[in-house]
Amino acid sequence: MNLMQAPAAAGESDADLQAIRDSVRALCADFPGEYWREKDRERAYPTEFVQALTEAGFLAVLIPEEYGGSGLGLRAAAAILEEIHKSGGNGAACHAQMYIMGTILRHGSEAQKQKWLPPIARGELRLQAFGVSEPTSGTDTLSLRTTAVRQGDRYIVNGQKVWTSRAEHSDLMLLLARTTPKDQAKKRVEGLSVFLVDMRTALGKGLTIRPIHTMINHSTTEVFFDELEVPAENLIGELDQGFRYILDGMNAERVLIAAECIGDARWFIDKAVAYAGERKVFGRQIGQNQGVQFPIARAYAATEAADLMVQKAAALFDAGHSIGESANMAKLLASEAAWQAADTCLQTHGGYGFAEEYDVERKFRETRLYQIAPISTNMILSYLAEHVLGLPRSY
Ligand SMILES: Cc1cc2nc3c(=O)[nH]c(=O)nc-3n(C[C@H](O)[C@H](O)[C@H](O)COP(=O)(O)OP(=O)(O)OC[C@H]3O[C@@H](n4cnc5c(N)ncnc54)[C@H](O)[C@@H]3O)c2cc1C
Repeated sequence: MNLMQAPAAAGESDADLQAIRDSVRALCADFPGEYWREKDRERAYPTEFVQALTEAGFLAVLIPEEYGGSGLGLRAAAAILEEIHKSGGNGAACHAQMYIMGTILRHGSEAQKQKWLPPIARGELRLQAFGVSEPTSGTDTLSLRTTAVRQGDRYIVNGQKVWTSRAEHSDLMLLLARTTPKDQAKKRVEGLSVFLVDMRTALGKGLTIRPIHTMINHSTTEVFFDELEVPAENLIGELDQGFRYILDGMNAERVLIAAECIGDARWFIDKAVAYAGERKVFGRQIGQNQGVQFPIARAYAATEAADLMVQKAAALFDAGHSIGESANMAKLLASEAAWQAADTCLQTHGGYGFAEEYDVERKFRETRLYQIAPISTNMILSYLAEHVLGLPRSY
């Protein structure tokens, strides 16, 4: 099924979702463990996989049909990412191409949407770099220091971002920068603005990208801005309102990352069950021992429960409801279920879990990220405590 030709279905039926899952699974079958293992070993970008997903239209599912996408909902996008991770792959190489454009879609002018969304939908333009995190401010986004100062028909950007993933594999970057000094902003949450930076023209002219080597193959980077000129027409939405726009998009991102965690958890559980059935020690399958069975059963229960929250958050989003509470709980529960399943799978494999060829150690490293990025567990708990339960503000 090529999604570029799929009929519009704002509320996809279960059969539609199943068809999407089946076609993602078929695509992923061409990218087995060996493929991901080699990319991981060489810290190489999975270009062929991203190309295949792009050509099949899977990265354009959230773009409305009028801009060349397939106009599907978050449940469909979540199903795609879950299947990629369940197959043993990693959607982090390109998942942001699905949702970063949401800021342009929801807050951009009609002219900006017409200009950027169709080439993004066709895969001709890659918008998968998201410049929010900075070295000094960390999770405290309102304290970020990168500035954008208006000069005539352009903004001059100075500063630094860190953990800007996929910057070397993206044409555009969505950048959050301070446009009004913190102490002069009318409200605490104002004074930041969102820009679309065309990195094709900016590289070497005020934009420098430096890769960061990490424990996983994530193509993440540091980005430096030195008197970078960004056309004023690339400001998205209203000046100084960027923080609100970014928060808006983050809830959808959390649901999608949670879906990846569910996929990871299911991969680990399947792998653990298979190995527990195969491996014989003391003349019997290790899976006959309840000490081996119970952790797998527990991880399974945690995964199924977390998935209910992921499905709830995605369905609420598609129905136009606010999802702060459910998206955060989905991300919290799913990232923890994935980690529980990962740890159980490694333990089930004994020493072999450490051998590259089983893929367990790679997935184990990859799934650990999601308790830290895109938002760390403590920040979610803090949100739930303060904004949902009404407990006193702690920071
Ligand atoms: C591989 C990778 C890819 C990433 N990709 C991107 C990207 O593409 N774009 C982007 O903008 N960012 C990206 N990030 C950044 C990511 O979003 C941040 O690392 C994450 O939000 C945590 O911020 P920090 O690292 O600055 O931690 P800090 O804010 O320094 O926090 C450190 C620890 O302290 C805890 N903590 C801090 N304050 C409190 C508090 N008040 N109460 C309780 N606990 C607290 C946190 O929970 C965390 O565990 C990426 C990170 C990684 C590792």
